[in-house]
Amino acid sequence: MSDYKINTKCVQGGYTPGNGEPRQIPIIQSTTFKYATSEDMGKLFDLEADGYFYTRLQNPTNDYVAAKICDLEGGTAAMLTSSGQAANFYAVFNIANCGDHVVASSTIYGGTYNLFHVTMRKMGIEFTFVEPDCTDEELEAAFRPNTKAVFGETIANPALTVFDIERFAKAAHAHGVPLIIDNTFATPVNCRPFEWGCDIVTHSTTKYMDGHGAGVGGCIVDSGKFDWMAHADKFPGLCTPDDSYHGITYAEKFGQAGAFITKCTAQLMRDFGSIQSPQNAFLLNLGLESLHVRMARHCENGLAVAKFLKDHPKVSFVTYPGLEGDKYYDLAQKYMPNGTCGVVSFGVKGGRKAAETFMKHLKLAAIETHVADARTCCLHPASATHRQMNDAELVAAGITPDLVRMSCGIEDAADLIADIEQALAQV
Ligand SMILES: *Cc1c(COP(=O)(O)O)cnc(C)c1O
Repeated sequence: MSDYKINTKCVQGGYTPGNGEPRQIPIIQSTTFKYATSEDMGKLFDLEADGYFYTRLQNPTNDYVAAKICDLEGGTAAMLTSSGQAANFYAVFNIANCGDHVVASSTIYGGTYNLFHVTMRKMGIEFTFVEPDCTDEELEAAFRPNTKAVFGETIANPALTVFDIERFAKAAHAHGVPLIIDNTFATPVNCRPFEWGCDIVTHSTTKYMDGHGAGVGGCIVDSGKFDWMAHADKFPGLCTPDDSYHGITYAEKFGQAGAFITKCTAQLMRDFGSIQSPQNAFLLNLGLESLHVRMARHCENGLAVAKFLKDHPKVSFVTYPGLEGDKYYDLAQKYMPNGTCGVVSFGVKGGRKAAETFMKHLKLAAIETHVADARTCCLHPASATHRQMNDAELVAAGITPDLVRMSCGIEDAADLIADIEQALAQV
């Protein structure tokens, strides 16, 4: 569907039924697939023929939905995973192994930070975290001879910093490694990182793509632009024979367009099995069909709420990259001229207690450990996700005790503002 506009791709991308076939994506609720001969089956195992044999590796329902997300991002190959965490783990582990090193933005999602800093470190992979606004010298100093990738988030959750994709892509490519971007908050409707030099995109589809809080999921998309063979010494997993697949060299057999996702499926999905269930893939696709309509409303409501809060006497600060005067406004205008996301952070004057009082009185906005949902929700990190930290540690982590993270849904902005107004009046 590459000639159509993104709005059309959201609705009809990925699956084109033939004559008399189901209009909606079929849910292939089957663990396995039947073949006439053992030779047919053998060819699948050798990656000599295309086809399905076991749903731990691949399933047609998932592949229809992955193809839609691939089309939305402008990539050449994609796969679904069981969660955003699995997507980020696979994307990095597919090219960085024990003894390797990765440069990552310091403001990435806490779950990803923990995955990198604690769990993947135990696997022998080292990470250097750099501020998204670091100087060129600081960025340059972060690279090592064994660096295999650079990682960032288009809009960081929940810091709401905007990643300068072009700048980090240039630095990554100068060192012969790809840039991986988690595009969860912006979605391809608002930003397509491949257009700015990014090589691999990941998603927690749990957020805006699903959009209804119905299913946890993830996705990895390859731009097909990174020339693995030109840096074969750095990426032996892609550029030398895989003994577990009869000596196939992925970058030779599947080319730039297919090597990354084929290896990720054939090795990591085979061995770790973090596959998305076909039922969840079906629900995800229902969400994708309205993604373009919902994102516009999320952004409209986010901006309206941010503007209201900015002028409110009981509010100490507002962070929203779509708001004029925000530290990241200019970068947001460059990469996301049509809107950023629906998440707004702000402080309630009076500190921790004031923030808690405010949230207790909200009626429409529910207190949840979730964001990017059709229904407005909010979280007080100091008493939830960052509860174990004292006030000084919170400030060091960029989270003030009075900070409230509000994820604006797609309700009427006037109702959301009235709810916030009455809750602030109780403080
Ligand atoms: C939620 C989130 C993740 C983790 O995704 P899950 O689907 O919860 O595993 C990763 N990155 C970002 C930016 C997120 O918001």
